[in-house]
Amino acid sequence: MTSGDLTELTIKEATHLLRLGSISASDLVTAHVERIEQLDARVKAYLRMTQEVWERQAEEADRKLRDGDAPPLAGIPIAIKDVLCVKGVETTAGSQILRGFKPPYTATAVQRLFDAGAVMLGVTNCDEFAMGSSTENSSYFPTRNPHDLLRVPGGSSGGSAAAVAAGEAMISLGTDTGGSIRQPAALCGVVGMKPTYGRVSRYGLIAFASSLDQIGPFARSVDDAALVLSLMSGLDPLDATSSQRPGMEVLNNYGAGVKGMRLGVPREYYDVEGIEPGVKAAIDAALLILRREGAEIVDVSLPHTDYGLAAYYIIAPAECSSNLARFDGVKYGLSEEDSPNVTELYTQTRRKGFGTEVRRRVMLGTYALSSGYYDAYYLKAQKVRTLIKRDFDAAFEKCDAIVSATSPTVAFPIGTKTQDPLSMYLCDVLTLGGNLAGLPGISVPCGTSDGLPVGLQVLGPQWGENVCLRVARAYEEASEIRAEVATPSPLQGRGSG
Ligand code: GLN
Repeated sequence: MTSGDLTELTIKEATHLLRLGSISASDLVTAHVERIEQLDARVKAYLRMTQEVWERQAEEADRKLRDGDAPPLAGIPIAIKDVLCVKGVETTAGSQILRGFKPPYTATAVQRLFDAGAVMLGVTNCDEFAMGSSTENSSYFPTRNPHDLLRVPGGSSGGSAAAVAAGEAMISLGTDTGGSIRQPAALCGVVGMKPTYGRVSRYGLIAFASSLDQIGPFARSVDDAALVLSLMSGLDPLDATSSQRPGMEVLNNYGAGVKGMRLGVPREYYDVEGIEPGVKAAIDAALLILRREGAEIVDVSLPHTDYGLAAYYIIAPAECSSNLARFDGVKYGLSEEDSPNVTELYTQTRRKGFGTEVRRRVMLGTYALSSGYYDAYYLKAQKVRTLIKRDFDAAFEKCDAIVSATSPTVAFPIGTKTQDPLSMYLCDVLTLGGNLAGLPGISVPCGTSDGLPVGLQVLGPQWGENVCLRVARAYEEASEIRAEVATPSPLQGRGSG
């Protein structure tokens, strides 16, 4: 087996070979590191590599494999988004304000995967503080889509999605506040899952909007995503919003197929403004396959969809303005310590450390929360949030899961939306409802439009990860569409490199 083959494996395949002893955890890591050295100058998925960590973890995995007591992810190479704290590893949320910050502890979700034997390759690029849909808001550099280097990978977890798509990691972790796992998964042609709010502990996640944020996996198969999710889920005394429900329940009935299931297609999502004809055609084809597999496709409605975007862009900035108050030049990272007084210290540090989009959100959020406007904006947005949640409750009376496109468009060329924040915000119309309502959702590859990946989104009821995974897996199997590893050519995008 060549090292190229090793970077195309799924967890299932790799685990089989590792347990047979035909490859070692070190072989697997080496193959991935070589692939990163060969490709990442083009893709730019990684911000930093963690050699000390992977050497230690691969050695330990190999020892456990030899001793025959290997945990489920022993030797599996993983990439971690730059918003998840890893003890001793620089973690910066894609921002200059956290430059040099080395957390004194590891996020629970990450620690659980380490305990399960995963081997960390490095830290992946993202939009600053996870605010964005293209990874262009990273304060470092934009990540490129491995399917076309002139296009974005989506965001904010674009580095994590691109790493898995390019064979630069077998799995990765991202976070999803309004779509930041599902949308980049769709644009990069991989599987990405956002769990129910509370399924996965947020301890050690650098918070963006605490009532919306969830951590979830990227993978190249639904099986892999399901396994990783089951291992990182469950109660954590360090996050009071984490649920007691056992992580393994995400696998309940998982392989049962869709026969007899009712799959709801919300008309507001199906005909959403700006949906590209090629994306719609891919979704139509997916619905046909699901019907052929025995699912009943039912018409449902989410009547408050039109207000979702506005509500999200009040609530998320409001929470971010409060969460980001802690970055003041005193406790973490960047500090303009030569400032003449403390007010100047705060002002200069934040002016220098935060990028344009983060400052815009902090200002919007502060405004929305200010005493004169609280009722008009924040309170109103919370009421809309309740209406959206009720829309989903009513829809789930009529169906077991909701299916739609994940993103109305395929990956767009780098630079085309950066000057127009509203057009960037529109990337999330089909995903952020799931966050406002706290629901689980998965994006699974569903073919291409104009040669670029399209994602099928499956949303489930609260705690219905198993339903999402079951539909996604049945679709993956029946469609025979796989997340294929992309090898971008040296120079340019499709057709020109
Ligand atoms: N694109 C959305 C935003 O900018 C969602 C980001 C996310 O899910 N982290 O807020």
